[in-house]
Amino acid sequence: MLREWADNGFVLRIGRFRETDVWLKTLCRTRGLTTLFAFGASRSRKRFCGCLDVLNTLRCHIRTTENGRFFNLQEAVLLMGPRRLRSNWQRMGLAANCLRFVESLGATPENAVELFDIVEDLRRTLEDRPHLPSLLPLFFRLRMARAGGFAPQLRSCGLCGGSLDKGAFFLVNEGQTLCPRCRPASMAYAVKLSGAGLGLLQHVCDTPPSDWPHEDLPPPERRACAGAIDGFVQYHLGLAFEDGRFRRV
Ligand SMILES: [Zn+2]
Repeated sequence: MLREWADNGFVLRIGRFRETDVWLKTLCRTRGLTTLFAFGASRSRKRFCGCLDVLNTLRCHIRTTENGRFFNLQEAVLLMGPRRLRSNWQRMGLAANCLRFVESLGATPENAVELFDIVEDLRRTLEDRPHLPSLLPLFFRLRMARAGGFAPQLRSCGLCGGSLDKGAFFLVNEGQTLCPRCRPASMAYAVKLSGAGLGLLQHVCDTPPSDWPHEDLPPPERRACAGAIDGFVQYHLGLAFEDGRFRRV
């Protein structure tokens, strides 16, 4: 393993230990989810330029410890960070929810670049877009699940290959969609979605957060989309959002 290396890191969470030291849960663009330790962080503006904060993208110079188990942040330079977002507590709440999900999902060197780019796009979206989709946190989970290798099949009927324009049944356990003619025998794992709802979910899977429409579907369709995403993420990633944090289910 490399003793010293550099990577771009998006800071998901930060905490203090001892008096002047800090740990950072970081999504590193090439290495994936990594915990970095910054010793003397609160004393050294020279090494860390006061930029150790959540939602910042940092150029990180990292040294692996002798035993290969820990990663010490030697120096960091701010590459990009939010300007106005930190003063908007509602949007900071959305950001926190999404960043917790990234942390729970994890990231490997194989999918880190895609996840990293989505998270940076999310920051731009929260910062710049005047209106956001009401289901943004759920859309984000679906998009990240897809980037993590769990892609639901929403384009055509999983049994007969038929069109789903007139609505369909999404099976959260299989990530498959069935047309009305092939409807499942049991509704235990099925969510009924309209053609517009399916189109929206497919669009979310295929595009970055900045491309997601903020116009809402009618409430019943919106609830169905939310139920489909929630069920899919819970079933395949084992993550449920409860009491402000993600829990393994
Ligand atoms: Zn069918």
